[in-house]
Amino acid sequence: MNASIPASPVHAPSTQFPVENGELVIGGLPLGRLAARVGRTPFYAYDRGLLTRRVTELRAALPASIKLHYAMKANPMPAVVGHLVGLVEGIDVASAGELQVALDAGADPREISFAGPGKTDAELFQAVAAGILINLESFREVPVLAAAAAELGLPARVAVRVNPDFELKSSGMKMSGGPKQFGVDAEAVPELLAEIGRAGLAFEGFHLFAGSQNLRTEAIIDAQRQCFELAARLAEHAPGPVKFLNLGGGFGIPYFPGEQRLDLAPIGENLALIQAEAAQRLPRAELVIELGRYLVGEAGVYVCRVLDRKVSRGQIFLVTDGGLHHHLAASGNFGQVIRKNYPAAIGNRMSSPVDVASASVVGPLCTPLDLLADRMPLGHAEVGDLVVIFQSGAYGASASPQGFLGHPPVTEVLV
Ligand SMILES: *Cc1c(COP(=O)(O)O)cnc(C)c1O
Repeated sequence: MNASIPASPVHAPSTQFPVENGELVIGGLPLGRLAARVGRTPFYAYDRGLLTRRVTELRAALPASIKLHYAMKANPMPAVVGHLVGLVEGIDVASAGELQVALDAGADPREISFAGPGKTDAELFQAVAAGILINLESFREVPVLAAAAAELGLPARVAVRVNPDFELKSSGMKMSGGPKQFGVDAEAVPELLAEIGRAGLAFEGFHLFAGSQNLRTEAIIDAQRQCFELAARLAEHAPGPVKFLNLGGGFGIPYFPGEQRLDLAPIGENLALIQAEAAQRLPRAELVIELGRYLVGEAGVYVCRVLDRKVSRGQIFLVTDGGLHHHLAASGNFGQVIRKNYPAAIGNRMSSPVDVASASVVGPLCTPLDLLADRMPLGHAEVGDLVVIFQSGAYGASASPQGFLGHPPVTEVLV
């Protein structure tokens, strides 16, 4: 190879799914058989074994005392939430609708926490009745919760969601630092803590969430250190001991060419240091990491069928029955600045050479935005073949405009 020409970046290999006789295997089933079992395309399939494996890997890398929470907005499918309830210590919800799913799935209300910048009075009332922990994000929520607690004769369990005075560097989506609608600015938190004390709410701790989809270990370590420092400082103003300290998450997964999987080992070492310090400074605090896509993203695929194969001025288009109405993120329209391809393959022809033909995968919608793969080396495909989009277990079905253009909704299965 000519050293002066850099190799074009490639996708991290999706080796979590084995290949048998040229077919991708998901949840132990060859893709064709799985599609037959589901009975229709398109569908999302989530691999139960991979969800379990991911939690096991995290446990091995992180200190045993760190509690894992699942942020269920990443994938609220009831069966997925139900599976994870048995694997993690808590579920983080962001609406009364998610709360219902978490409770139905058997989550212990004591281990559910509720965050969100616009909780309605009705949602706050339901949360107190359920006995879950509410992450306060506004002064407005204090009197509403005090009234709910008085009416129900139950404690209003609260943690303060802090908008830190720093940002998570290299995060795909920044959710803290500077002016934000999330949480309460760190500098206003002492006043809020006093208010919580006056209103008689049951203070339990702090919630900090610096950002999402971070693939830089150093940045995550740095954010976790700073979050801990900030919480330890704010604890001096708290009306009671800190029992719960949610340091956020933000662990990313590789979606695009050139991205690498996170190295968990240094994150685990850093958390062990934080845990040791917490034992001194916040002796009653349980440390929590909340993860969404890191738990579910790599365990899921989106599968659609080729309806037509068109060649337009030399470019191959695989027209499928799936598209942006089911998988907005893969089309590049869910927060991406520059459109890049998700990893994809022809799932029933995994043994075919991929470099023979580059093709675009499009959907049935009458918009050029309906693009699942743009001129990608996929190998040969024909009508009836199954296109698989990897890294699709998070922010898929529930984060897509399924009503757009009136096509049928997508099916989801946990296998
Ligand atoms: C969205 C969100 C998460 C999950 O983010 P991921 O990138 O999926 O891990 C966690 N915590 C809060 C507060 C969130 O809003």
